[in-house]
Amino acid sequence: MSLLVIGSVAFDAIETPFGKTDKIIGGAATYIALSSSYLAQQVNLVAVVGGDFPKEDIKLLQDHGVDTEGLQVKEDEKSFFWSGKYHNDMNSRDTLVTELNVLEHFDPTIPASYQSSDYVMLGNLSPDVQRKVIERMENKPKLIAMDTMNFWMDIAREELDKTIAMVDVLIINDEEARQLSGEYALVTAAKKIMTMGPKYLIIKKGEHGALLFQGDKVYFCPALPLESVFDPTGAGDTFAGGFIGYLAKTDDISFENMKRAVIHGSAMASFCVEKFGTERIVNLSNREINDRVQQFIDISQVEINV
Ligand code: AMP
Repeated sequence: MSLLVIGSVAFDAIETPFGKTDKIIGGAATYIALSSSYLAQQVNLVAVVGGDFPKEDIKLLQDHGVDTEGLQVKEDEKSFFWSGKYHNDMNSRDTLVTELNVLEHFDPTIPASYQSSDYVMLGNLSPDVQRKVIERMENKPKLIAMDTMNFWMDIAREELDKTIAMVDVLIINDEEARQLSGEYALVTAAKKIMTMGPKYLIIKKGEHGALLFQGDKVYFCPALPLESVFDPTGAGDTFAGGFIGYLAKTDDISFENMKRAVIHGSAMASFCVEKFGTERIVNLSNREINDRVQQFIDISQVEINV
């Protein structure tokens, strides 16, 4: 099935306890598109970059089979730039710089060939742009998933609530779930968030796994204990790409299949953190992905008599 991905395509500068990068390719849509390209039959990208964005990085996306007809290049403007610094435990980070640049007046256009996309992943972007994409799709997609972050909760809460009300799945982290709901306990937070519109909610907890909620049902997927964690940047987006990519590949949106999708998302994210930026996820084999998924199955299984 085909998947439409929107979000930032950006330059990032990252600092972790293991090192520092200058401007490297990043952005929510970059991670989502790369990650989902290993699973979905077709990935269509809607995003915007400035004239400073390297052509070889656009080619990198194309080499992964990503359709870039919907990627606008504004020659006279600068690409979105984000910079972040991780704390020692790498579970939390501070945003140092957010320069919207080309994103400030982004008016997304959906090429005719994308109009029949079956699945939509609204990656991190201003909520009114996310909503415009939903409104500009002539055919109703089978499933719309959305990511967001505290930045938008702080500066565009009303817009955010309107967009959240239009999506099927919301994917956020634990801190964001608490801020969005005003509740501390994640189960209570989840119940409240699901009254805002989404039927499904995923709460990511970094190295502590991810929770999937639907009504009263809850599923927990652990994170794999990894030997090398260098840079968590993009792990959330890579998770989202693996999750929605698997749903698009299997075309099954039952709760049981969503559990498998969460495992695929977690497996893809586990690769992402092993190297800086997109380095680890640009060159994966199906074999590596399948082996990693199997490791998740193995650590979750136990025989027990009660
Ligand atoms: P993650 O680590 O999964 O939360 O995603 C990090 C990516 O999100 C980076 O590559 C950034 O370029 C991108 N990003 C950070 N802040 C924003 C924002 N306000 N809007 C859109 N993308 C953002």
